Amino acid sequence: MKYSITEIADILHIKEDRLNDQEAVVSQLLTDSRSLNYPKETLFFALKTKNNDGHNYIAQLYKQGVRNFVVDHVDEVTRGMRDANFLVVDNPLEALQQVAMSHRRKFNIPVIGITGSRGKTTVKEWLNQLLKDDYKIVRSPRSYNSQIGVPLSLWDIDDNTQLAIIEAGISTTGEMGNLQAMIRPTIGIITNIGSEHNDGFASMQEKASEKCKILTSCECIVYCADDPLVTSTIKPLLDVDVAQEIAWSRTDATRQLYVKSVAKTDKQSTLTYVYGGKQCQLTAPFTSDRDLENVVTCLAVMLHLGIDPAVIAQRMKRLTPVGTRINVMEGVNNCTIIADGYTSDYNSLTPALDFMFRRSSKQHDNAVILSDLKPDVYSDEELYIRVSELLWAKNIKHFYGIGADMCRYGKYFKGMECQFFKSTQEFVDKMSQGDFENETVLVKGAPEFDFDQIIDLLEAKQHQTVEEIDLNALAHNFKFFRSLIKPTTKAVAMVKADGYGTGSYEMAKTLQDCGCDYLAVAAQDEGVDLRNAGITMPIIVLNPSVVNYKSLFQYHLEPEVYSIIEARELIKEGAKYGAKNFPVHIKLDTGMHRLGFIKEQLPELIELLHSQDVIKPASMFSHLCVADEPAQDAYTHMQLDYFEQCTQVLQAAFNHHITRHILNTTGIVRFPEYQYDMVRIGIGLYGIKTCYDGSEDALKPVASLHSIIISLKDWPAGTTIGYGRHGVLTRPSRIATVTIGYADGYDRHFGNGHAQIWVNGTLCPTVGNVCMDAVMVDVTEAQCQVGDRVEIFGEHIPIERLSEARDTIPYEILTSISPRVKRVYYRE
Ligand SMILES: *Cc1c(COP(=O)(O)O)cnc(C)c1O
Repeated sequence: MKYSITEIADILHIKEDRLNDQEAVVSQLLTDSRSLNYPKETLFFALKTKNNDGHNYIAQLYKQGVRNFVVDHVDEVTRGMRDANFLVVDNPLEALQQVAMSHRRKFNIPVIGITGSRGKTTVKEWLNQLLKDDYKIVRSPRSYNSQIGVPLSLWDIDDNTQLAIIEAGISTTGEMGNLQAMIRPTIGIITNIGSEHNDGFASMQEKASEKCKILTSCECIVYCADDPLVTSTIKPLLDVDVAQEIAWSRTDATRQLYVKSVAKTDKQSTLTYVYGGKQCQLTAPFTSDRDLENVVTCLAVMLHLGIDPAVIAQRMKRLTPVGTRINVMEGVNNCTIIADGYTSDYNSLTPALDFMFRRSSKQHDNAVILSDLKPDVYSDEELYIRVSELLWAKNIKHFYGIGADMCRYGKYFKGMECQFFKSTQEFVDKMSQGDFENETVLVKGAPEFDFDQIIDLLEAKQHQTVEEIDLNALAHNFKFFRSLIKPTTKAVAMVKADGYGTGSYEMAKTLQDCGCDYLAVAAQDEGVDLRNAGITMPIIVLNPSVVNYKSLFQYHLEPEVYSIIEARELIKEGAKYGAKNFPVHIKLDTGMHRLGFIKEQLPELIELLHSQDVIKPASMFSHLCVADEPAQDAYTHMQLDYFEQCTQVLQAAFNHHITRHILNTTGIVRFPEYQYDMVRIGIGLYGIKTCYDGSEDALKPVASLHSIIISLKDWPAGTTIGYGRHGVLTRPSRIATVTIGYADGYDRHFGNGHAQIWVNGTLCPTVGNVCMDAVMVDVTEAQCQVGDRVEIFGEHIPIERLSEARDTIPYEILTSISPRVKRVYYRE
């Protein structure tokens, strides 16, 4: 929908005479400069977040043709842009929300607001699938921040819209009131309330109360009556404010929607339910309890909207799963594959492209493989014209369209190399791995196109053991540690040893997005790789054995200085490459006795530093060696005390402030009063707990390791298994061979029952010695077949259990996973 700029100015209480161009028209709201598509009609909101400031992108957007901006101040540069409108407000985010709120109020249509800990996206997408024959629907795209995402979704409502479905996620108290005021849902849904995102709330009760605020003033609310917390929180609301409720239950036949029975087969479930005194049935192609919970929620909404149970049953049969995960995989010929199995429509394309751009490296071209899109708000022709414009604006080099519509509307695709295929099969037949090289490839297809075939073709296959890395969990863990330190304290993320074995580049990208201040790597090469991949944040190099000073200075990698000899070397080499006041980090030895200056060496160091201007101390730091051993706290306090003395000596010798830092993961938790200017977070980022007093329980595991059963056999008692015949069967047993061995980092000490592998819900002991590429497992108690995926560590087997079995620490387990094991990164 289009607004004149004067209408927008009105909403924001800005006088029209402040506008340079009163004729301007706005049809697009923009908050992320990377998502720019239609400059002329775009209104850009310069939002300030913890890590970024939208005002920094104004000049660039102006160059790209944007002329309308909402800002919190103007400066010399923007004042010079005389043909552009600057709407100056106190807070651009609030202004965005005000515009959305005012827009929303113009429409008297049903609006569904969904909140809950999980299932929001699935319920939203399923309601769309189930209701799109009856309504023209606007719904929120995949979005990571509701305070911004909700206003942008509401903006999409126009005169044709008959129903809006909006997802409202919150992470802390006070947020839902704001969202409710914008969305003004007529139907409110609570999917469920689990323990996710607990850190923002004092208690489960507080979280439930906050979430339930979305239900205020709804005509109808939908929730599960079997959850006592939700039910008790909603009860007081029902008395004052809500017209109707559809509380569903599996046990209480007096509830509005009673699910009487659930009969499951392999692939589907049949639900018998009672609503309005009538008993009906439906069958949905899902069997997990989580999916069925979402099915019932959708059912309740459809019943409320008056849709006939026979029609509901018909549509439920055709529901397709919603892939909420984007996978990042290593592809053939140095490609990166980004696989998005989310719904295929225009709405979800922009977030996928944005994700791709955040991941893609500078040396890569970008390619997109896309299936036919589901027609949405736009007519077919307009839809494909818009897709083409979007891809063109994003500088996509190669485009592959798959499906009948793609072929039909291919003529609209301009400005890139395009190829079209009638079917996925045709693509797989005609294309080969050699057609893709040094590219980041977005593979996005509707489920019915079975793009797994394409991913099979493009994925670099090495070996069937994979380490999966959950980037959401990483961001969560980073935020957890951030919440333990003062806002002014900076954070260094330790991504040494290739990110504790998980792969430093993906981790660094995610941490950079999270607003981390510094990265630390072990070796200079790791730093160079990160720079080449586009990491711009400051990087400290810990490992002192520099071999190539040129790249150290050229790539602006800040070294640790631990000895006079090394400092002299740095000064000599730095001078060659024109370094001036190059930041370095002084390492103090306070008790580890590995590397660093002791107090007696400081005068010599100070003299050396004063004699030159090639390097300049940016920080001084030390490392605790027994932070995790309460029995040795006296030693830690000695270290902290010695650190204080040394840093005072150093600081006194310089006029500029030198940053101080000494805490590692455990230190942050146990000695927060010594956080100084900065802390260094290591193992905790990867979700490993170092304290067992509950203080780190909020951490989520980041890495999980899986392998595959490649053979199964039954043997009689007395049979021996493996090298050395150490595995002697004491009963008739079923033995599986799993394709992971000590060459993958699965230590030989895990053999002979010293570790277990999780096989479809059963913990199964290893039998006999671990081989180089395989291990045998006793699966007599488990249900399994050849080809099944098994867990080595992850959700069901904590890494700590493996490190205990081997009498080592989780650090070693993580960093021992061999490079030949493929890493797969994903986020929800
Ligand atoms: C590895 C390392 C850390 C991080 O330690 P964790 O125990 O993993 O938090 C901090 N500082 C230095 C100097 C390190 O080498």
